[in-house]
Amino acid sequence: MAVLEILKYPAPALRRKCLPVERVTEQTAELARAMLATMHDAPGVGLAAPQVGENVRLIVVDVSVGKDPKQVHFLVNPEIESASGERIVEEACLSLPGVSEKIRRREAVRVRALNLDGEEVVLDAREVLAFVLQHEIDHLDGKLILDHLNKTKRDLVKRRLKKQARAAS
Ligand SMILES: [Zn+2]
Repeated sequence: MAVLEILKYPAPALRRKCLPVERVTEQTAELARAMLATMHDAPGVGLAAPQVGENVRLIVVDVSVGKDPKQVHFLVNPEIESASGERIVEEACLSLPGVSEKIRRREAVRVRALNLDGEEVVLDAREVLAFVLQHEIDHLDGKLILDHLNKTKRDLVKRRLKKQARAAS
């Protein structure tokens, strides 16, 4: 399975609001499987379609990082239906190399989505899985960890990332 390129901040694709998938097709499934391979290769616990330049509401999550196939979730058009509790969580992002910041997340979420067969699924998640789901669903609305920081911190991290991106190009 081919590994896709993961876009890094400040790639414009990371800031777009993604479009719903109107019909789950073999093409959707192919993209999802390529995203899984890319995420495992990185390695990471979650990946959203805009991170590989695809403007659609599709995320892949695997908090076991390839150890347990039962923990792989392909979610199409995921939506947080309800949430409870709060936690301060340290998060990183494959699109923000070197960034690790403490942000506020809900402790538990119920997510409604479609699977790759186009069937509706409901996922009740707590802690790590819940945090990853919130992180990936944020990506579908063009939202990054940065946007959860206060302005001073955000500007500092943005400056660092832009400098890094310039040095790499
Ligand atoms: Zn991310």
